[in-house]
Amino acid sequence: MEEVQVAPSQVRILKTERKWLGEHAEYRAGWYCKKTGAEILMVPAVHSIWQDGPGPCAGDGETQTVFHLYCPDCEKEPEFEYGSPVQADDLMFAQNG
Ligand SMILES: [Zn+2]
Repeated sequence: MEEVQVAPSQVRILKTERKWLGEHAEYRAGWYCKKTGAEILMVPAVHSIWQDGPGPCAGDGETQTVFHLYCPDCEKEPEFEYGSPVQADDLMFAQNG
């Protein structure tokens, strides 16, 4: 079902998770939890990308792999339904690694 891809140098992530990262972790040649020092992990999930805006064209069925950030010590691994929608406006690119 879910394609495993070689991680590209740039990955799609959610802005909300990037914000969380800045609060939860600190950068030391990689992102590490401020509380426990655990390395922050990324898990890929396939989402339908919904273009925001007026009109019936919203949700054209395009799917993209989005990487989700999580702390393995403070959270459990997030799970996402295949193809669950995310807003295009919520996406940003991040350097991988
Ligand atoms: Zn943590």
